[in-house]
Amino acid sequence: MAICDWRGCSECATHVVDLVAPDISTERWGVCRPHDRELKTKFVRSRPRKTPELPLPTQTSVLCGQCKRVLPERSGLLPTEREPCPDCDSMSRSINVEVGGTMSFHSSLHVRARHSKGGWFVRTKTGDDYTRDLEAWGKRELMIDNEHDRYREVIDLYDGARLESNARLRDHPG
Ligand SMILES: [Zn+2]
Ligand SMILES: [Zn+2]
Repeated sequence: MAICDWRGCSECATHVVDLVAPDISTERWGVCRPHDRELKTKFVRSRPRKTPELPLPTQTSVLCGQCKRVLPERSGLLPTEREPCPDCDSMSRSINVEVGGTMSFHSSLHVRARHSKGGWFVRTKTGDDYTRDLEAWGKRELMIDNEHDRYREVIDLYDGARLESNARLRDHPG
């Protein structure tokens, strides 16, 4: 049996994991049981969260409160730090906050394409706890087939990424 693909690991590769995502080349990993779990966690964490949780780009502009001329002034300025409006000498301001259009997953992901196996590792966030990762998953399907000694797990993520793990059931106890 082949050796686990995980760097530095010399266990037997009992699980075959296929990774598919819009922005990476499809990858197939042969890994041991602990690294099957680790690979799943890392892959899920490397993917963007659900769309509504993505921060939308916002644009703030400062206008004169009286004549509505757009002023080249930071929105965070204190009233005492302001210069009078060059047109009408007013010191009052009105701040416009525009929330930009919805961000598209695919356009932003395209730029970050990686081609080497595990290249997406660099995007993996650390510090998020496992339950939060679970919420980010779109769907998780487990198939346990005692008769044919098959174990199969499929994780479909919101952004179209997919992970499929296959093993013999005897290699995936519990
Ligand atoms: Zn391993
Ligand atoms: Zn003005």
